[in-house]
Amino acid sequence: QITMKGVSKNFGDVTVIPRFDASIDDGEFLVLLGPSGCGKSTLLRMIAGLTDISAGTLSFDGEDVNDWTPSRRGVAFVFQSYALYPHMTVRENIAFPLLMDAFRKWHHIPLLSSIMRWKLMRRPDIVERTNQIAEQLELAPLMNRRPASLSGGQRQRVALARSLVRNPSLYLLDEPLSNLDAKLRTQMRSEISTLHQRVRKTFVYVTHDQVEAMTMATKIIVMNRGEIQQIGTPDEIYEHPANTFVARFVGAPP
Ligand code: ATP
Ligand code: MG
Repeated sequence: QITMKGVSKNFGDVTVIPRFDASIDDGEFLVLLGPSGCGKSTLLRMIAGLTDISAGTLSFDGEDVNDWTPSRRGVAFVFQSYALYPHMTVRENIAFPLLMDAFRKWHHIPLLSSIMRWKLMRRPDIVERTNQIAEQLELAPLMNRRPASLSGGQRQRVALARSLVRNPSLYLLDEPLSNLDAKLRTQMRSEISTLHQRVRKTFVYVTHDQVEAMTMATKIIVMNRGEIQQIGTPDEIYEHPANTFVARFVGAPP
């Protein structure tokens, strides 16, 4: 369980998140929903440990994680914008986090050379995990291609696969579908929901898209200007919006 008590964030003297109190249960698909600039990415980055919290406490299962590095937090982070390695194949891009994990054990070697990459790409556990995630995201036919030859949507799926390949305990996704066309977005929406049901881990998913929130979430936090407007299930929020902001934002009758 993730608990945020009085979590706030300032950049200089600008307060982006004044005071955030919420908890996220294990296995939840929590959607952070709100307009551009309301602090969704900032909140997600604080949970990931990519940016400090300015005040308050953030804990995982009752343990304060303030000093924990992102890797100790066991999170996978899927960014709003993504970058693939152009000189590597799809297979190598997806496996890359696993290669880095394996490589970290050999402190005496300064750089991951292409020969070592080639050798590691043949390690059975890495092969198996890479194929498994590629299968799940329907990337198997593209494994030997390079990013330059892929469509935008295919690249985004490779980036998603690369983020998820480590089997994280917490999935943090920041508008992962924002660059996709409508058809692919619908398809990926259900693929991510399926992934959530299969792995049964906690997902925190940021979007400003009401339809994504309503169809994917088990729980939604509606935000505006860094503040929580309402917390509830999609039904609760749609049927009983707490205020006119929520009603307008989710398109429900006030
Ligand atoms: P979007 O939907 O457009 O991605 P968001 O809800 O993710 O928006 P954030 O990226 O969290 O919004 O930004 C919230 C506010 O904090 C914005 O006003 C932004 O300009 C500001 N902000 C974010 N990062 C920084 C930073 N490093 N320094 C100063 N201000 C920042
Ligand atoms: Mg953002």
